[in-house]
Amino acid sequence: MTQMRSITLARRPKGAPVPEDFALKTSGLPEVGEGEILIEVSQFSLDPYMRGRMEDVKSYAPSVGLGEPMVGQGVGRVLISKADGFAEGDLVTGMTGWNSHAVLAGLEARKLDETLPPSTALGVLGMPGFTAWVGLKKYGYMKPGETLAVAAATGPVGAMVGQLAKSAGLRTVAIAGGAAKCKLATETFGFDAAINHRAYDDASGLRKAIAEAAPDGVDIYFENVGGKVLEGILPLMNTGGRIPLIGTIAWYGGAEVADDRLPMMWRSILVKRLQVTGMIVFDHWDSYPEFLAEVGPKVAAGEIDYLEDVAQGIEKAPEAFIAMLKGGNMGKQIVQV
Ligand code: NDP
Repeated sequence: MTQMRSITLARRPKGAPVPEDFALKTSGLPEVGEGEILIEVSQFSLDPYMRGRMEDVKSYAPSVGLGEPMVGQGVGRVLISKADGFAEGDLVTGMTGWNSHAVLAGLEARKLDETLPPSTALGVLGMPGFTAWVGLKKYGYMKPGETLAVAAATGPVGAMVGQLAKSAGLRTVAIAGGAAKCKLATETFGFDAAINHRAYDDASGLRKAIAEAAPDGVDIYFENVGGKVLEGILPLMNTGGRIPLIGTIAWYGGAEVADDRLPMMWRSILVKRLQVTGMIVFDHWDSYPEFLAEVGPKVAAGEIDYLEDVAQGIEKAPEAFIAMLKGGNMGKQIVQV
């Protein structure tokens, strides 16, 4: 008899997660109720936001309970359908969690276009790619000739940001961890320049490098990381610059901004009249069909590139997740169940 395998939250991490914070659990297949489908999950996504769900704190989404499967989006085929509009064998996506099988209400699942690899629904055409598109469209106010900078530049959010900005006529500066990622940023994702943030111990060295790559200053800083990169870039922002505030992964492990750095950071926002807007992608799902209609054909035609890093086996998910938070991924991190 087929068993379901899950990666559960064994305990809440202190700082950076470690393998002992997760457990592999085996159980029987879940029952399928009326209006529901059973999915055999082929791949699921690992995303930085999941680090936040491991905490027992109030946030924009509920935390994962101890002993419960980690949350996340997956793709797979329908094994049993008791929901209208779904048949056995349909390729679907939904919030399957870190599981080999999942029961979802039909309303919570979406059928996928079979002409594209299913994994694209998790990265370039999924939540991360959409985050880049909606963040730029609603809060970037891009103008040709301007300069945009983004860190985590070779991940699914950053790579999409760079390519959309480049095609809108902006100069694009990537900040990425390591020489291989910098090469990927310029050669595959078309950034005009790339800077390895790991080559600089502090924000001031990094700032000099970014200033050379952005001789006219920075008009849009698409904020994915916080930390040293944010501190380095703020004084380089042009007056009237925009900062879509998307993520602060440098601080997800609990590191904080030193008190003496805060006045400088706040003052840069004031003096440069910066527009800083926090954005959570879940508030924007009504624009997702527009994103798919605009960007889907470009991905299919190869006009937008993407890269995936696939961990083989559900048991590898914790290791791959821990590595991703530290920059161990080359492209969108996915788990092949
Ligand atoms: P990535 O696949 O790019 O993975 C995270 C990357 O963050 C790592 O590979 C690493 O890249 C970089 N990173 C980690 N620590 C640091 C650090 N201290 N300083 C600089 N960079 C660091 O992730 P995504 O593209 O999926 O997500 C990017 C950001 O967008 C995250 O902060 C995420 O939380 C956020 N996000 C927010 C959403 C929202 O709704 N607001 C939705 C989706 C994503 P490198 O090795 O290049 O440094």
